[in-house]
Amino acid sequence: MRRPNVVFVLTDDHAANAIGAYGSVINTTPRIDELARTGWRFDNCFATNSLCSPSRASLLTGAYSHVNGVYTLFTPVDASQPTFISLLAEAGYRTAMIGKWHMGHGEGHDPHGFDHWEVVPGQGDYWNPTFLSAAGRRTIEGYATDLITDLAIEWVESLEGDDPWCVLVWHKAPHRPWEPKPEHRERHDVTRPIPATFWDDYATRSPSIRRTAMRVADHLSLEDLKEAPPPGLDHEAEAVWKLQRYLRDYLACVESVDENVGRLTDWLRNRGDLDDTLMLYASDQGFFLGEHGWFDKRLMFEESLRMPLLVSYPRRVPGGRTFDGIVTNVDVAQTILDAAGVDHHPRMQGRSFWPELVDEAPVPERPAALYYRYWENDDIIHKAPAHYGYRTDRHKLIYYYNDGFGLPFTSFFTYPPDWELYDLEADPDEVINVYDDPAYAEIREELKAAMWREQSRLGDAPHHSQPVPAGCEDVEVAAQPELPRIRWLASQPE
Ligand code: CA
Repeated sequence: MRRPNVVFVLTDDHAANAIGAYGSVINTTPRIDELARTGWRFDNCFATNSLCSPSRASLLTGAYSHVNGVYTLFTPVDASQPTFISLLAEAGYRTAMIGKWHMGHGEGHDPHGFDHWEVVPGQGDYWNPTFLSAAGRRTIEGYATDLITDLAIEWVESLEGDDPWCVLVWHKAPHRPWEPKPEHRERHDVTRPIPATFWDDYATRSPSIRRTAMRVADHLSLEDLKEAPPPGLDHEAEAVWKLQRYLRDYLACVESVDENVGRLTDWLRNRGDLDDTLMLYASDQGFFLGEHGWFDKRLMFEESLRMPLLVSYPRRVPGGRTFDGIVTNVDVAQTILDAAGVDHHPRMQGRSFWPELVDEAPVPERPAALYYRYWENDDIIHKAPAHYGYRTDRHKLIYYYNDGFGLPFTSFFTYPPDWELYDLEADPDEVINVYDDPAYAEIREELKAAMWREQSRLGDAPHHSQPVPAGCEDVEVAAQPELPRIRWLASQPE
């Protein structure tokens, strides 16, 4: 059987709530939606560490942050570790990485194991971006989302012979500071509905959550907004003005992504390759678009945790279906390898969902829950707490341990730990923390024990401040290993 070509489009910070196929009420994405029609829409795909560099590393390595070593934005990847790319290459695939890498640069950190790579440095620029490659550095005039697509197509067009290929088309968009093309900005200059939880007062939430500095009303910068709010607005009116401004520019950047997904699809179709291509569309994590009053990500609430994921491969995978089971960014590497008929590396920690897409028996049992850990404690800009948590299809338990271990870009401060618990069925908007509600005491303790066991299975170390859950006295857990400690690198923060 012919092995599929692979086109993996990854965007940066694209929330499922800003995709038509996921029911967006604030924009349309007709070209991305096509992939949901020709393929599968994953409704419960989650990031295991909702942050750019760590999620990219998990996608590539099929491992959690504590295994691949990319904990924060400033813990560069050891690019020599096994990835789905290195395994595809060994199996005869031609491979390329185009666009935003964002896992470090220089010896040992540049893209590794690719036949070709050309990436933007760090966060990259929207306009006239600089690209780095093995050949050096060049600046190309134009708009990053268009150029990244151009370079990906150019590379594939340069290939000769019949061996399959895999290209990563990893965009900067729609990442902060949201600089769209003028024609898109103009089209998006409309008033949009305000999310139901925009005025969240955090009444039942932990102090850890109240300390975060990601509120649309208070923490968007002048660079984000492009101009100061009109004078004379009260705090509430100013918050709404900022939200509308933020959504305008964010969604205008998304429109360019949508156009470029369409360009890729049309190009594949014109080449006669669309049916034999495994095409993935995903974002490295979700994003708050005003829900709970926030922008950005990092936290374990649904809007940030959920990754949009669409998978199309018409020759093998029946289209127009949705996948409800829990999958994560850690599962993607093994799934791509499985689709290509290549064995995964034993170090990989995910589970391929390929057998479920092609109805191949036996289908492995899917985990009923997700383990999450955010390490970048209290960074100077977003002030988001380090935490880990456990999400089942019904509940979400979160432990904010508020300790950065001295990891790069974490703060010097630690705070007392806090717990939160949400009932996703009774409270899908996650506004009522029921951790101290006696009605939830039993499930709370069950979830603590389940999370402890999952940490043990994955080889992660619980924070020393957490008491051993009842019934877990005999569960072996890893001791906290030494972590990289480089503080205050003079590089560009996210
Ligand atoms: Ca991101």
